[in-house]
Amino acid sequence: MAQLDVREKLGILADAAKYDASCASSGTAKRTSVGGKGIGSTEGMGICHAYAPDGRCISLLKILLTNSCIFDCHYCINRKSSNVRRARFTAEEVVKLTLSFYRRNYIEGLFLSSGIIRSSNYTMEQLVEVARSLREDHDFRGYIHLKTIPDADPELVHQAGLYADRLSINVELPTVGGLKRLAPEKDIGRIEGAMGDLKSSIEDTADARKKYKAAPRFAPAGQSTQMIVGADAATDSDIVGKAATLYDRFRLRRVYYSAFSPIPEASSVLPLQRPPLMREHRLYQSDWLMRFYDYQPAEVAAAADTATGMLPLDIDPKLAWALKFRERFPVDVNRATREDLLRVPGLGVKAVKSILASRKWRRLRLDDVARLTVSVAKVRPFIVAEDWRPTLLADRAELRPVVAPKREQMELFA
Ligand code: SF4
Repeated sequence: MAQLDVREKLGILADAAKYDASCASSGTAKRTSVGGKGIGSTEGMGICHAYAPDGRCISLLKILLTNSCIFDCHYCINRKSSNVRRARFTAEEVVKLTLSFYRRNYIEGLFLSSGIIRSSNYTMEQLVEVARSLREDHDFRGYIHLKTIPDADPELVHQAGLYADRLSINVELPTVGGLKRLAPEKDIGRIEGAMGDLKSSIEDTADARKKYKAAPRFAPAGQSTQMIVGADAATDSDIVGKAATLYDRFRLRRVYYSAFSPIPEASSVLPLQRPPLMREHRLYQSDWLMRFYDYQPAEVAAAADTATGMLPLDIDPKLAWALKFRERFPVDVNRATREDLLRVPGLGVKAVKSILASRKWRRLRLDDVARLTVSVAKVRPFIVAEDWRPTLLADRAELRPVVAPKREQMELFA
């Protein structure tokens, strides 16, 4: 590998990290350096983010330790057979960069991942050393997210959790067949085994901290994972089903969906075109329905086209579900359960909470609901209010064009 200075390495290794979408920093423990103790904080403005040209959100110090790898996953630009320029940071260089970026107020934390060099254990040791040095040598109190390597010794992964706020292990592809075909060196059993170990450690230390304040923290922001969308033949129903299983089995904080990006000199087994970014967006909306709107995975899957298993791109999955199950509507805003109100397109969790609170005192009219939503036109066909009953509209077969968002030509110079 040619000798590169830190700036050149940063250019290569920050660019190589942009394909990982799982960089949000929510949900960690509060730490500050108020009072002159330590450096960094997980509060205040949070991690700074940048946006890649395709609209994906990326945190500023989001880097790989190295983009060399002994594995050959077809979808990955850093795979062994890829003809990219390689670079590698030492653990000390990453520590110095994090601190100097922090002191310049460029970042609030570190998202560190890596290709696998020499062995899974060796690579994991390097990642742990970065986090250890930041925390122990420099008393760094900012956010640290480490990608962990499923094949690494569980003791190393455990050490990572003692220093990092969040750990993540990428499940990569939603189906076992897809993983075998596109990442033959990875094994779903080892990936899920490592996720199970993380779940146990997170729960055990959370229990211990309830009893003993001095018990060590372990990944207080939990664990997350990422699935690549559109690199294999998995349908949206497959992806939603897999995500639901992962939330259920491993208590994940987040599943991230990353639309597969065609890479330079891509493997011939990959599709030539990337999936529409809207597909990624629709999957995030379905995820939201399961996490905050109490939809069962089977309900979200039912919003998909029965023949193709794909969610519609032109309307959101909640609206798609409501149009498919029109017999569940209209619901009476003055009598319906929270569960039924949450299924009304256009009503969010906060709006439903307000409806439930205010109807204790008086019967709600359409105007009252309109004040709680962005678009009453979207809500109207699906509700009954004191002065509103949409009988005709709810029965019309052409309801979809009425409630679907209108396509608009964007202005060039807006
Ligand atoms: S192990 Fe990770 S870095 Fe290496 S080729 Fe596979 S996805 Fe890329």
